[in-house]
Amino acid sequence: MAEMNACITCGACCACFRVSFYWGETTASPEGIVPVALTAPIAAPHRVAMLGTDQANPRCVGLDGELGKQVACRIYEQRPSPCREFQASGEQGKINPDCDKARAKYQLAPLVAS
Ligand code: SF4
Ligand code: SF4
Repeated sequence: MAEMNACITCGACCACFRVSFYWGETTASPEGIVPVALTAPIAAPHRVAMLGTDQANPRCVGLDGELGKQVACRIYEQRPSPCREFQASGEQGKINPDCDKARAKYQLAPLVAS
């Protein structure tokens, strides 16, 4: 989830994709910050995923609230790199098709009209 006002009434990307990353981002590593208890290993070597996201109907365990209404990431300051890098469509003037796709899954209009 990005850090835009639109995101706090959305949360769709936290309930659409597998959120996977290098295990060294977790607190299992001395430099890691993502709570390891909220992650699980995946088939890819040296990688983990946020719990709840490696399944057919993903929803990250870190997501609080009601999708499309009011949401928050419980570990915002400790969230992994894919969440930090994911930009809301229109942020910095760039369209993010994955943001649009996630929002469409929950009947939310794209942030930028085409
Ligand atoms: S899908 Fe887009 S608007 Fe919704 S929370 Fe994610 S980045 Fe924000
Ligand atoms: S860690 Fe936070 S920002 Fe990342 S998918 Fe989970 S709820 Fe969303």
